[in-house]
Amino acid sequence: MVDISGRPRLLIIYTGGTIGMIENPDTHTLQPFDFSHLIYNVPKVRKLNYEINNISFDPPIDSSDMNPGHWGQIVEAIEKNYRAYDGFVVLHGTDTMAYTASALSFMLENLSKPVIITGSQLPIGEVRTDGEENLITALQIAASVNSAGVPTVQEVAILFENYLWRGNRSTKMSADNFNAFKSNNYPPLAKIGLGINFDYDALYHNIEHRPLRTHYNMDSSVMCIDLFPGLTESTLRHQLSTPGIKGIVLKTYGAGNAPTAKWFIDAIREAIERGVVIVNVTQCVNGGVMKRYQAGDALAECGTVSGHDITAEAALTKLMYLFGLGLQPEEVRDHFGHSICGEITI
Ligand code: ASP
Repeated sequence: MVDISGRPRLLIIYTGGTIGMIENPDTHTLQPFDFSHLIYNVPKVRKLNYEINNISFDPPIDSSDMNPGHWGQIVEAIEKNYRAYDGFVVLHGTDTMAYTASALSFMLENLSKPVIITGSQLPIGEVRTDGEENLITALQIAASVNSAGVPTVQEVAILFENYLWRGNRSTKMSADNFNAFKSNNYPPLAKIGLGINFDYDALYHNIEHRPLRTHYNMDSSVMCIDLFPGLTESTLRHQLSTPGIKGIVLKTYGAGNAPTAKWFIDAIREAIERGVVIVNVTQCVNGGVMKRYQAGDALAECGTVSGHDITAEAALTKLMYLFGLGLQPEEVRDHFGHSICGEITI
């Protein structure tokens, strides 16, 4: 849809993050500021000649405070405005951006319009900010359509500096580099240089044209357990018997390996027998869980689910989503191994 003048219509959803922060003169720390300050610092946005409106979190937040309730607010903003806009740009802090991107990809089923998440490493008011370019490029990507008027991007994606990444494949890689994100097991959806060069094979194409279906119920009864040499039986058993826990992302070594000691395997097996779904995800940033070593076999034999090449962020939010649908542990196990929206290579 375009407005009567033929201009693309975009909605910016400002949640907070460094991009909109200013320095507190007393403490010299960065704190979120309102949207008018943010847009005042990017007069170039007007040159795009788009019809742009905005919705802002009140108050805007540091993304360390993000929770599933906030994801619901973003989904609601998109759902209510879905027909009226061609695309959506979500301004978000970088710290939990990959979790939000993963969660939104599950919560927005049958998405056929762009949801581009971006932010910055330096506040938009600073001279060397990366925020201005990120915002402008995100808007251009959200407005991009093919010759038939079909949106180029039909999924949740993260735009940061030189790349557009699939949201549920992304991980924050750097606390200070302008290229802060990467999708280690999936190619970039676009490379940003002099132009915006999309990889049409990597992009998701919604060919079934089903209407958007939103999901608000994300079940937080999940957690991550990181393996490390020296992890004791008592620590592990305490974690595995956390009250109410339904799903665990077990972050293992290398190709999905874990200690072969009997106490370890017994503790994992007993948790699975109690109905806890345990997903095996590698701690490595690149590659995935493979059947290569005995140390990984034992884990698979006691009933863990292979996360293949999924990120920990996507694994955690996928468990939240599947349990949020009201599925039983057996059903969650079955569904986990299938790609819902391109988050896992099977
Ligand atoms: N702490 C900030 C946030 O995630 C960091 C950033 O935006 O880069 O909100």
